[in-house]
Amino acid sequence: MTFSIHGSPVARGIAIGRAVLVASSRVDVAHYFIEPSQIEAEIQRLRVARNAVVDEIQRLQTAMPKDAPHELTALLDVHLMLLQDELLTSGIKHWIADRLYNAEWALTSQLEVIARQFDEMEDEYLRERKADLEQVVERVLRHMRGVALPVAHSTPKRKTQQDLLLDDTVDVPLIMVAHDVSPADMLQFKQSVFAGFVTDVGGKTSHTAIVARSLDIPAVVGARLASQLIRQDDWIIIDGEAGVVIVDPSPIILAEYGFKQRQYELERTKLARLRNTPAVTLDGQRVELLANIEMPEDAIGALAAGAVGVGLFRSEFLFMGRTQSGQSRMPDEEEQYQAYVRAVHGMQGMPVTIRTVDVGADKQIESRHDQGLGDEAHLNPALGLRAIRWSLADPAMFLTQLRAILRASAQGQVKLLIPMLAHASEIRQTLALLAQARAELDQRGQAYGPVQLGAMIEIPAAALTLRIFLKYFDFLSIGTNDLIQYTLAIDRADESVAHLYDPLHPAVLQLVADTIAQGQAQGKGVSVCGEMAGDVSLTRLLLGLGLRSFSMHPSQILAVKQEVLRADTSKLRDWAQRVMASEYPAELMTER
Ligand code: PEP
Ligand code: MG
Repeated sequence: MTFSIHGSPVARGIAIGRAVLVASSRVDVAHYFIEPSQIEAEIQRLRVARNAVVDEIQRLQTAMPKDAPHELTALLDVHLMLLQDELLTSGIKHWIADRLYNAEWALTSQLEVIARQFDEMEDEYLRERKADLEQVVERVLRHMRGVALPVAHSTPKRKTQQDLLLDDTVDVPLIMVAHDVSPADMLQFKQSVFAGFVTDVGGKTSHTAIVARSLDIPAVVGARLASQLIRQDDWIIIDGEAGVVIVDPSPIILAEYGFKQRQYELERTKLARLRNTPAVTLDGQRVELLANIEMPEDAIGALAAGAVGVGLFRSEFLFMGRTQSGQSRMPDEEEQYQAYVRAVHGMQGMPVTIRTVDVGADKQIESRHDQGLGDEAHLNPALGLRAIRWSLADPAMFLTQLRAILRASAQGQVKLLIPMLAHASEIRQTLALLAQARAELDQRGQAYGPVQLGAMIEIPAAALTLRIFLKYFDFLSIGTNDLIQYTLAIDRADESVAHLYDPLHPAVLQLVADTIAQGQAQGKGVSVCGEMAGDVSLTRLLLGLGLRSFSMHPSQILAVKQEVLRADTSKLRDWAQRVMASEYPAELMTER
């Protein structure tokens, strides 16, 4: 039966494929395809891990004291039984042999299938055995982590609807469906096998959504019950523009979306022709289109999209998800330096704006289960120890990062950007630490270049006290994602209030417009690096408000450039003022 689920659109495009349900706690499990020649070895790898767990449990049983409660031995019996269960073993073999999933992925896929069956059981005792099954699988996964992974990875190419109708084998596109995916886990899908993503939670500008957007594959977040309503292997369509997920589509719907998919691909091909066209409006205004990146390697995509520099390198992604991959908790100065230099070299002489670490809120350094923390750990994480507050709370860590960034500036054009400033005292401390970092490098005799210093304007308090910021900083970058969140008191990651997260709220527009105007009046550069900059429906408005520098994910640059090329800013100014003055700005947006 066909049905649809609505969420928030994240990344444009259509994906058609089979659903892969992934439990949030297991998103970090490796997902890749094996070669057919590896099937036996992969099954064997799993067998070895399972046997090790059987041994482990049997040893526990033998070591059990005589007076141990009967329930405990019975529980271990249940675990042993589950390990030998035919449904589990034959199911896993199916995912490996027929779908060429790697062993961990096959194991968790089958877990999801069986867990559903447990959920539907009438008998409460049996229903509760799901937790046992999860524990057993967790044990096997732990053992497998210690076993070397086979090297060959193969990434399937994306398929069109036409291909799909002809070919329904192992190679169909796969769409990940999860309750939640942390930004760090999302990042590891940059080289992923997935053609699209759906999550139950999250808002359009949550960091998970931002990373999903950078992957440039269709994604929908905040789709509420999607992970409960969609079943493993269901055919689904993601309409990344409308924010809709269609489950079990009929042939007519499939054909319609197949058509849309081809249209979209065609549009992209046409846009690619604009890559080397300078971004200049009809009335001759030059507009700077910069890239937002998360990793140094993203510079490749930035260049391919014709970016003229990096307007925001979210350096925190170098700090996230490290313990899971066995690295030290924080990258040291050398590791950070190497990463920044890679970005600088990657951009081939163009400026790279490195933002100091912005962790906290929905960007935790380690995943919650690594930290043993639940949601209750901080009542208001978005208002807590985040970004510059976190850096100033750990000056040694901050100095390490500042030294690494300064050193990278000897290798090319580097700009330094500080997130989440609100207080003059934070500015003073930041400047003092920057001076200290320079002095330490002088002492060591290490080189650094001139670095322009910028402040993110993303807290209303900063936007309302611009004179202080303009006194100390060379440029400003408006972080509209947070500016909207903090102006409207709407958690950007909370899908239940996503309908109130409004970039066109007159208060937001006023703060953005004032920042642009005041910055320009003093001859200082002002850029927008929040998601508003990459939203083509807002390009004309921002141009009308005087913005001439936009920073966004590379995937959005060419579409925004097209808007710039068609715009005449002399005609947009008055209209933008009217939009700003309106009670319902959205109603005036269609006028232009
Ligand atoms: C913003 O807040 O708009 C911004 C660019 O920073 P981040 O999304 O990383 O919080
Ligand atoms: Mg921000």
